[in-house]
Amino acid sequence: MSENMKIYLCMAGPANAEAVTIMLQQAKLEFRAFDNCAELVTAVQAEGAGVLLLEEERFRQCFDRLHNLLIDQPRWSEIPVILVTGKMYTTTGLILMEQVPNLTMLERPVSSASLLSHIRAAQRSRKRQYQLRDLFNKLSHLNENLEEQVAKRAAEAERRRFEAERSNEDLQQFASVVSHDLREPLLVISRYMNLLEKHFGEVLDESGKRFIKQSIASAQRMQNMISSILKYSRSENALLNMENLDSGELVDQACRNLELRINKMQAVVSKDDTMPTIYGDKIQLCQLFQNLISNGIKFTHMEPPRIYISAEQGESEYRFAVADNGIGVSPEQHQKIFEIFNRADLQGKYSGSGIGLAVCKKIVERHGGAIWLESKMWGGSTFCFTLPR
Ligand code: ADP
Repeated sequence: MSENMKIYLCMAGPANAEAVTIMLQQAKLEFRAFDNCAELVTAVQAEGAGVLLLEEERFRQCFDRLHNLLIDQPRWSEIPVILVTGKMYTTTGLILMEQVPNLTMLERPVSSASLLSHIRAAQRSRKRQYQLRDLFNKLSHLNENLEEQVAKRAAEAERRRFEAERSNEDLQQFASVVSHDLREPLLVISRYMNLLEKHFGEVLDESGKRFIKQSIASAQRMQNMISSILKYSRSENALLNMENLDSGELVDQACRNLELRINKMQAVVSKDDTMPTIYGDKIQLCQLFQNLISNGIKFTHMEPPRIYISAEQGESEYRFAVADNGIGVSPEQHQKIFEIFNRADLQGKYSGSGIGLAVCKKIVERHGGAIWLESKMWGGSTFCFTLPR
């Protein structure tokens, strides 16, 4: 609806109509005068209006149509109606006041000054309505845009989540199918080797027996590697359940899990008195501490293992250190040992599959941090990692 500020008037007698017309002309206000109310309604329906000025008798002539028009306006619109009446507080007058929105009733005789001031007030109110309409339109346009954007983003997020879930599932499925399919023939090999040893052990010479033993050991090693791959794929794909965690409590839990080994090796594991609260996945971060502590216990030489866990607060992250007094790692191995199946222990003195540090790296990186090693050969190792604050 365009911004129509005109006054649409319909006065009862020619004398009244003329007086009002002159007054409006003198005040330089735009208006349209109608002889009957029905014509006024038709015009307002077509063009809208700034203010309606009517005499009560006229209003009553087409009460229903006019009333419907006024009731049926858009949400932002309430065309001001000025009704000039003979007697204000008649029953009809009161009914009109109740039923017609934005109505002003003026009792005859009405002075020009009073009528004009009411007309001006009504126009101001109408102007504000148009401003409100523009604002309302702008808002609903913005709202539509916003809704569209939100719907688009939600659809995109859903699509990505679905794809991520599917590729995770595919990967998990692939890892378990492969490991299952590989395990079966391996078990058969081990079983037949055992049978071979049992039934033909006596006819085999020492080399034959050694070949069988080596085959069984290799099959066992391959079994271990398959379970490691599965473990690694789980650490990569498991959903992270993020929460606030007491890092000291995570270390304690890791030590409880390693209790047998700690006791067996007479290891001493200690930590800073105060450890920070971190945000992460409880199971994975406990696994991280557990892998590092367990390596510290494993890779020892003469002395009983001593492991110390500390934490420092940086600007945007916490820096943890797990230090031990063990055999250390030569500098050229510092990067490689974080790769899957990479072991610096070339003499096979220490058991293991070479998966622990690769899992640690995956966990730290999934939490937005980094992991590295500070160590000298025979000078102990300090594994450091960061986690965002
Ligand atoms: P695993 O312990 O099964 O061999 P890891 O991935 O945990 O596998 O470690 C990879 C290699 O890194 C180890 O074989 C070892 O050579 C070296 N390493 C890890 N932790 C330590 C440590 N605390 N002290 C000395 N060497 C270590």
